[in-house]
Amino acid sequence: MSPEKNFMTLEDVAELLGVNYQLIYRLVRSGELPAIRLGRVYRVTQSDLDTYLTAQKTGRSGTVCEACGTIYRSEESVRQACESCGARICFDCWQRAKVHLCKSCAPKDATGKKTGK
Ligand SMILES: [Zn+2]
Ligand SMILES: [Zn+2]
Repeated sequence: MSPEKNFMTLEDVAELLGVNYQLIYRLVRSGELPAIRLGRVYRVTQSDLDTYLTAQKTGRSGTVCEACGTIYRSEESVRQACESCGARICFDCWQRAKVHLCKSCAPKDATGKKTGK
């Protein structure tokens, strides 16, 4: 087993996950998905990808909205996806609060506005 065999291109990763290249590229650029930069190309190691994917895994008991943290029993309630990374966002955040970015992508202190219950 040589570790060199486990390097993947961003295209490989995209194909593996069934997503488009742009998404993977963005994840790498934003530092969410660790990658090795060699000049102008990136390589992702299998173990880094595994670690990343494990972190993205939602609990089996429900689907977590990455914007408000609420766990929903039904995936139907969390069908929207973060415009930046594709993380799950619930209907409440998306439609009512107009949140189209997950917690990690949302700009911090953008407005400082509190909705207050
Ligand atoms: Zn939410
Ligand atoms: Zn996001």
